[in-house]
Amino acid sequence: PSAMREIMIEVPKVLWSDIGGQQEIKQKLKESVEWPLQHPEAFIRMGIRPPKGILLYGPPGCSKTLMAKALATQAGLNFIAVKGPEDEIDALTVKRGGGDDGGSSVADRVLSQLLNELDGIEPLVNVTVVAATNRPDIMDPALMRPGRIDRILYVSPPDLPSRREILRLQILSKKMACDADVDIEMLAEETEGCSGAEVVALCQEAAMKAMEESLQIEAVARRHFERALKEMTRRITPEMIK
Ligand code: ATP
Repeated sequence: PSAMREIMIEVPKVLWSDIGGQQEIKQKLKESVEWPLQHPEAFIRMGIRPPKGILLYGPPGCSKTLMAKALATQAGLNFIAVKGPEDEIDALTVKRGGGDDGGSSVADRVLSQLLNELDGIEPLVNVTVVAATNRPDIMDPALMRPGRIDRILYVSPPDLPSRREILRLQILSKKMACDADVDIEMLAEETEGCSGAEVVALCQEAAMKAMEESLQIEAVARRHFERALKEMTRRITPEMIK
């Protein structure tokens, strides 16, 4: 039986436009995955192999998973999510042979299997492995060799324009009923240092605060956002940022 127990095949429906901002990383991912599919001849002409595996790294909640899903959706690919339970996630992030059972620990087996899978994928065949982690520093270097995970991309916390875009998606696109005093520009500035997930959570929390005031309330107002901002905890610490 596979050591990777939790495997899900899904057809995600995340569009590039569902992800606020993060233009640079979106562009790099399109180049890595869509170009080889749509313009294989250009890669042959240049004499380069398209990336077989891509590692997305960066602080939690900053759209790594969303990016992988949008890639699959927009390139019309299947999305096979492999998610290990905690011990097996750790398995990929420790060096092989370090166990006390002579190299046959779960960690070693999961890593060996992943390396075999990566080595078995032919170039220009439509399989790209997209891996995501918060801790690239502790990944086994064997995974990162050329022909395996050969492109490493940093997914940063959302900058000001990206936060503005996430807020616009949450408030305008989703048609949240808002008072005229809600100022997206101010909220974008005050969420400096937040992850995308935290910006989304802020909007949800503000709406809950409005409803706590009254379930008949017409709209979310600036005061609700301000209260939600005050209570919000920020998980991204300086050492998580490149
Ligand atoms: P982790 O490292 O914790 O697994 P992640 O980087 O994979 O996190 P996602 O799972 O992609 O983060 O994002 C979590 C949630 O945060 C998303 O489901 C979405 O609601 C929201 N989110 C994060 N970034 C954005 C963004 N740029 N635009 C819109 N929503 C976002």
